[in-house]
Amino acid sequence: MQLLPLTLQSQRLRLVFSILLLLVSGALILAVSNRIAWSHIDIKARAFMMTPDYVLNGTMDGLIGSIVHDAFHKTQANAKTDYAGTNAEKAASSFALGVAMKLGLDEVTLQNLCRDSKFGHKSGSTDPYKKRQKTK
Ligand SMILES: [Zn+2]
Repeated sequence: MQLLPLTLQSQRLRLVFSILLLLVSGALILAVSNRIAWSHIDIKARAFMMTPDYVLNGTMDGLIGSIVHDAFHKTQANAKTDYAGTNAEKAASSFALGVAMKLGLDEVTLQNLCRDSKFGHKSGSTDPYKKRQKTK
């Protein structure tokens, strides 16, 4: 079975492919929540969490790149290797860049993943879940 090249296929097919990667990694839930500060994968909940703003105002290719990136984090966690920290971020973005190139994602997404695969970014240092407001 030949999955690639998908570059001539529709954006929806690329999104489905990225979600399949996420499911295969063992993250079984995709959720949109306004209780989080940024989109991320919740390893324990096996969920890819997205903010409403990310879904409504981000690009489809950016979302696809993020799903592939976070699917790799779940794979790192499954292998009991570090899934947070600069090196884990570099590895996840390096993987996502390779997939993004094969999927033919847009230039902005490729450049973002390329930069992150070289330099990484901080992760896991703070809790993405917003504190519940106290009710009187
Ligand atoms: Zn990451």
